[in-house]
Amino acid sequence: MHGKLARWLRLLGYDSVYAKSDDDHILLEAESSGRVIVTSDVELHRLAVKRGVRSVLVPLEGIESQLAAIAEEVSREFGLDVEEFFEPEATRCSLCNGELVEEGDGRHYVCTSCGQRYWEGSHWSRIERTLESAKRLALKRSRRAQRAGTSETG
Ligand SMILES: [Zn+2]
Repeated sequence: MHGKLARWLRLLGYDSVYAKSDDDHILLEAESSGRVIVTSDVELHRLAVKRGVRSVLVPLEGIESQLAAIAEEVSREFGLDVEEFFEPEATRCSLCNGELVEEGDGRHYVCTSCGQRYWEGSHWSRIERTLESAKRLALKRSRRAQRAGTSETG
């Protein structure tokens, strides 16, 4: 359901596979690989939580709000700052999830798995704009969650 989101997560350096199989296979795969399920399917999300598989429910549309939802969940789960989610150490190939290595002048990258070449061209500033607004959204969400948490305990 979220092929586009999978490509964005790879861009951020997250090892992401796009699952086309049925719920049972997705759950088994997540259990054996330790992957986090990202879905808009409420039923699949419920099944996952019931089986103790980590799962993030994301909105059906809007890459910024989808990334924000994942950032909030992941940062809470692993005790990170929301910002850290958006600051990858290395990006992955958006086509095949392979690892990228620098080539030549440091502005070019090549995928070690499929050979696809990337360069930091003009499209990069568009990507950064999207990531910036996703980050702002995630910060807003996590502050709201923290306030809610404080009022519950206090
Ligand atoms: Zn590749």
